[in-house]
Amino acid sequence: MAHQQNSPLARRLCSNAAVKRNARGAAAAIMRRMSTALRFAFMILLGSCLLAQDAPDPFRERAIAMARDALRTHNSHALLGRLLHAAPKRLAGSPGAKAAAEWGVQEMTQMGLKNVRLEEVTVPVWDMGATCRVELIDAKGAVTVLRSLPLGGSEPTPDGGVEAEVLSVKSFGQLRTLGEAAKGKLIFFSRPYDQSQLSTGQAYGDSVIQRGQGAIEAAKVGGVGALVRSAGSGGPQDDYPHTGAMNYEDGVARVPACALSLKASDALAAALEAAAGGKVRVRWTQDCANRGTAPGWNVVGEIPGATLADEVVLLGAHIDAWPAGDGAHDDGAGCAHVLEAARLLLTNAAPLKRTVRIVLFANEENGLAGGKGYALQHAAELPKHVAAMESDAGGFSPRGIGAGGGKAQVEALADLAKHLQALDLGTVKAGGGGADISPMAPHGVPQLSLHVAGERYFDLHHTAKDTLANVHPRELALGAAVMAITASWLADNAALPRPEAR
Ligand SMILES: [Zn+2]
Repeated sequence: MAHQQNSPLARRLCSNAAVKRNARGAAAAIMRRMSTALRFAFMILLGSCLLAQDAPDPFRERAIAMARDALRTHNSHALLGRLLHAAPKRLAGSPGAKAAAEWGVQEMTQMGLKNVRLEEVTVPVWDMGATCRVELIDAKGAVTVLRSLPLGGSEPTPDGGVEAEVLSVKSFGQLRTLGEAAKGKLIFFSRPYDQSQLSTGQAYGDSVIQRGQGAIEAAKVGGVGALVRSAGSGGPQDDYPHTGAMNYEDGVARVPACALSLKASDALAAALEAAAGGKVRVRWTQDCANRGTAPGWNVVGEIPGATLADEVVLLGAHIDAWPAGDGAHDDGAGCAHVLEAARLLLTNAAPLKRTVRIVLFANEENGLAGGKGYALQHAAELPKHVAAMESDAGGFSPRGIGAGGGKAQVEALADLAKHLQALDLGTVKAGGGGADISPMAPHGVPQLSLHVAGERYFDLHHTAKDTLANVHPRELALGAAVMAITASWLADNAALPRPEAR
């Protein structure tokens, strides 16, 4: 297609020959009109220009080779398929989490990474259970089942379930003004995800506080449970509830919490509006459970550096996932990104000066024990971690990378940005990092993230729709290429400015 011919990658691949042909033709015409001395000077100038044309840019050639390798093989999608086959359900502390860690070791070993190992951490164990049934009983007594999922970490409903009147609030401030009226009620946190935000991550962050703190705030006013509108960006007909982590607070009753799909939330809101002074009730049973702690594992492997082996460029993603779907985008895609990046580096870029370390972190979703454990266990070598980069935004088309250290880091990455732009793979922007690598930030480790097109991520993540079928092989491959290109640049160039260790 014409569009493909005009892409920066295509232009780059076919431009050199045409440029040189045109330059030689024009030069011959000029020389025919010149004196001998002028011809001599002109030939020297022209020679040096053509030499410059011919001088290959090794980094550019390497970046192109890695991108084409990723696209030709679609190996990242195959990797993701194998993870989802080996461990479709892999929340920390579950049998699937162990299977996933074993899969990680096997993949790393097979591709030739060195020092492959499991590093143990202690993770919480939460069982999602088999049942979450929410029935809406409207003011006229009609019953509708609302699609729901328990929130991660929630307690079950009491034996026999809970049935109570529902009160809807849009904010914690509004909830606190209800006083006695909230006692014994189910609190429905109904504030919608703000579709007008340009950043889907920002919109998610603004809406997710209802999920994280809703049960605490409900219990503080005497509520008996929290029904939370899903923190998702789907349309009004979206009937897939989004689970995700929620919190309890010491000294505050641990009331159950669940997420309602957007469609279910709209139905509940409509019933409340139609009630006209009547009461809307919900009958709710869920059998999830907290079961203490268990061992979990960060999976680690390396491409040892050739000359600066003690300096580390870390590429990370998290291997755990909510069991609502298969965690294909969140964060199976990230695991595929970093493993495929390692393969691309081994095949197309090694030897590199610094060590590239791949880490599949345990327990990002409900506790961050993997990221915290890594920072603790590796505290002594963090001054020599020149950068940590995380992929945890899904397997969508890359838009470049984010640098958490602000303007100074973005400027230091200008050369990398130029190469990414030339290949139509995005650019470098201020603002980046990831949950798993964040415990390294206080030690001054520069924080980077893979940026991807985020428009569909919050339709899918933490839902039953987060499956392999919704991950596009080409988009996934290009994300892996950006991680490999970035790691290659970081491993061979001057270290980034470090924020002060705290
Ligand atoms: Zn994630």
